[in-house]
Amino acid sequence: MSAQKPVLILGGGLMGLAIAHQLARAGMAVLVLSRRRSEAAGFVAAGMLAPHAEGLSGDLLALGQASLERIPAWVAQIEADSGLHCGLRPCGIVVPFASAAERDAYPTAPWGEALDRQGLEREVPGIGPAWQAGLLFAQDGQIDNRRQLMRALERACVDLGVQFLEGSEVLALEQDSHGTLAAVRLRTAEGEEQRLPTGQAVLSCGAWSAQLLPQLPIRPVKGQMLSLQGPRRALGRVIFGPGTYLVPREDGLLVVGATSEPEAGFSEGLTPAGQRQLQAGLTALLPAAAQWPPMERWWGFRPCTPDEGPLLGEGPIPGLWLAAGHHRNGVLLAAITAELIAAALQSDAVNAAGPGPEHEIWLHSFRWTRFSPGSSQANGNPEPGLTC
Ligand SMILES: Cc1cc2nc3c(=O)[nH]c(=O)nc-3n(C[C@H](O)[C@H](O)[C@H](O)COP(=O)(O)OP(=O)(O)OC[C@H]3O[C@@H](n4cnc5c(N)ncnc54)[C@H](O)[C@@H]3O)c2cc1C
Repeated sequence: MSAQKPVLILGGGLMGLAIAHQLARAGMAVLVLSRRRSEAAGFVAAGMLAPHAEGLSGDLLALGQASLERIPAWVAQIEADSGLHCGLRPCGIVVPFASAAERDAYPTAPWGEALDRQGLEREVPGIGPAWQAGLLFAQDGQIDNRRQLMRALERACVDLGVQFLEGSEVLALEQDSHGTLAAVRLRTAEGEEQRLPTGQAVLSCGAWSAQLLPQLPIRPVKGQMLSLQGPRRALGRVIFGPGTYLVPREDGLLVVGATSEPEAGFSEGLTPAGQRQLQAGLTALLPAAAQWPPMERWWGFRPCTPDEGPLLGEGPIPGLWLAAGHHRNGVLLAAITAELIAAALQSDAVNAAGPGPEHEIWLHSFRWTRFSPGSSQANGNPEPGLTC
């Protein structure tokens, strides 16, 4: 590592790695403090890139669309830096509906191609009989986050000189007499407590972020998943049904997701009810797939905020930046998050004029204080408290 004091990345999940990568590309020294690599939602997610199929609205839709646009170049950069493929598939996503009226009322219907039953059968051969209409979002897609993207990011970071302390839990943030970030306290994998002085850190602890800063409105929403081995190319498009989606990987692996269990808190493990729900959703969407052999079952925690949008930019402590709360769209939003946070840190480091106008608008829309009393709800999404 260079003699320069490193930027500390608190949490080495998807956001932490994506930001570390951008900072390292810009020549900054970076140290990632990661409690447990394998618990990161980045290793759990289905990897859909789905601002339209998810039916997002308001600023969150616009942020998702901006990130989707950036993903090909972002992925190409990671692939070039790591020498590894990320498994990006611009395969399109089909959202099925029971009726044309439901289809036409979908928030993102204007961005999709309307399908009748015949169109649905053409796009998704073997789709269940309950679905009479659909929307094809050809611009949405997927990336193999679990097996490829996360690994490629790790490799790219290491090759660019990013340092890692895997197994280190950040215990607390220390401020100096002016209230500015002064140090983080951590416990290493060997059980030693250490104090790391720092001037700049990024909080990217996913669903656990409020454990370090209780004023952040982030709560876990547990999701259970499973995968099946289907015949290669049995399914070309992702199917995004209500409550269940099917994501076909290049090699025929079919990822089936996901439950949404805000009441579960951080309770670990699979549940029979969750697994039954996935099985029922799978059978309704693609009956033949119910016979395909199961491969893996797993779970993880989405970092959810009251309006389901992320918290980006300056945090409550000067010197601490936030990249957290991406809920069910973190894979989609990783590209723009990394760009925004890395640019903000760089301009801060060189005392530059600050973020450019486009960045400034995003950082304002997704500032963490938007939920404070007196702050107008900026994102056009559900009212605070209704969704998590
Ligand atoms: C079931 C499921 C399905 C999903 N599907 C999709 C999808 O299809 N498309 C999409 O765009 N998004 C999806 N997501 C959302 C996406 O995975 C998340 O939004 C994203 O991974 C969040 O990234 P993160 O870096 O903030 O958190 P994470 O990836 O969870 O990483 C957080 C890391 O911080 C570490 N950490 C926590 N506390 C500490 C501490 N005190 N000290 C040190 N380290 C700490 C943890 O160990 C963890 O490794 C899904 C999520 C789930 C759970």
